[in-house]
Parts: sequence; structure tokens; C-alpha cells
Amino acid sequence: MEKWPIGVFASIDAGLGVHLDVVRELGVPTIQLHTPAKPSRTKEKAEAFLGVLRDMNVAITVVFGGFEGESYADIPTTARTVGLVPPETRAARTTEMKEIADFARLLGVDAVGLHVGFVPHDSGDLLYQGAVAVTRDICDHCRENGQRLHLETGQESPESLLRFHDDVGRDNLFVNFDPANMILYGSGEPIEALRKVGHLVRSVHCKDAKWASNPGREWGREVPLGEGDVGIDVFLRTLKELDYNGPLTIEREIPQDPQRQKEEIGRGVRLLDELKTKIL
Ligand code: MG
Repeated sequence: MEKWPIGVFASIDAGLGVHLDVVRELGVPTIQLHTPAKPSRTKEKAEAFLGVLRDMNVAITVVFGGFEGESYADIPTTARTVGLVPPETRAARTTEMKEIADFARLLGVDAVGLHVGFVPHDSGDLLYQGAVAVTRDICDHCRENGQRLHLETGQESPESLLRFHDDVGRDNLFVNFDPANMILYGSGEPIEALRKVGHLVRSVHCKDAKWASNPGREWGREVPLGEGDVGIDVFLRTLKELDYNGPLTIEREIPQDPQRQKEEIGRGVRLLDELKTKIL
């Protein structure tokens, strides 16, 4: 595959991201797939879906997990509902995440992505230890499938993420770096963070955002690629320095306005094309 193939975050039925008709219109060669709903995760559906993608000449680079009941409404809600940290849903979601990894294997995809949730800063916290244990468990399952697990960045500072990675201690655990999330969650300056965790980055989200006036307490604001505080030019130059060769996957979450979403992603694709020509 070419260096830095452009992609979009996409979904078939459930989940975030754009639908396949938009992928077709955009003409991008890769997608990250947000997992479809449970009834769609069958061998037959996987084969049918792969047939459609083959006709479109599109490759899946990562399958992202996602669970019912997750809400990104505000920071406290995200902490309470997202990923494998909340104890009430942890066991069921761990089982489901393994099923999602098995579905990704049916699709021939060797990387599975996950928002693990808000991992507490204190490593003595029971929630921290629980998050380490389930991440290990899922990594081991992925290993049997010949897969890597990519943790979505955003909620943790780069230092916390590195410590968490060390504590899990699995060599198929990597990072999906989302520079906008660092700004949205107020967890650190994205380029500086990228340099710190760069050796673990195996996939990225090209997403942009503006800082909140009280970072960490209220959300920053997601904006179209190139219009926020990430500095996409510097982001790509830093990826080049780090010798990152993987896909550039555009993520733009405005499901309430699909027309605008498509236009903005289209502009994002053109921006990345221009920057690739300039930087690579
Ligand atoms: Mg993301």
C-alpha cells in the first residue's frame, strides 16, 4: 500500500462515522470501520460486506469497538459511560470486544481499536487495576487472532498513556493517535504528546478542534480539518519525522448534519492530498 493512504471513519449500520455511499463518493482507498451492530457480525455479513468493499477498491485498516450506552455528551458523562473502565458494564463489554475482534478477523483486519475509557490517574485505584486487567485480557485474545489492539488517545496525558501501556505489558498494544481529542478533553498539547507516544502510534485520526476556555472541565469544540488548533501541517510533519507510514483517517463527527459532514470531509481529503504532496 502507498504511504499515508487517506481514509475516513465509517460505519455500516450502527456507530459513528460516514456511511459507505459517502466513502464511495469521496473515493478514498481506506476506512476505519466502527463495528456494526451485533446481529450484523456474522460470517455471511462479513463476506457480503467485503465483496462491496472489493468492488469499491477500499481496504479496512482498523475495526473500532463501540458499545451500547456510550455517550460523549460531556466530560463527566463520557467518564461514566465510555469504554471498559465503568465496572457495571465491564465484563459484558469485554466479552463483546472479543466478539468484535473475531468479527474483524472474519474481515481479514489485523488491528482493532478501542476507547478504553477514562483511566484514573492513580495507579492504586481499583478502576485503574481493572482497566489494566481487561486490556491485557483483550490483547491476549487479539494475539490469538493475529491482531494488534490500538488505544484511542484523548482522555489521558501522554505520560499516563505510556504508564498504562507499560503496566498492561503486552507487545501487541499500540496507539491510535487522535490529536483533536487531546484538545477536546484538555489532556495536553497534541504535537508534544505525539512526540512522546510516537513509537507506539500505528494509526491516526485526522481531526481538528479548538481549545475550551476551561480545558479538562468542559469540551473543546470539534471543527473541520485545518480550521482548529491542532496544526495539521505540523501534525503530518511530525508523523513523517516519526517514520509513520500508516493511513491518515479523517474523523468528523457531526451525525446531525450529514450533508455538511460530507462536504467538510471532502475538503479534508483535498487538504491532506495537498499536504502529502508538499511533505512526503
Ligand atoms: Mg478519534
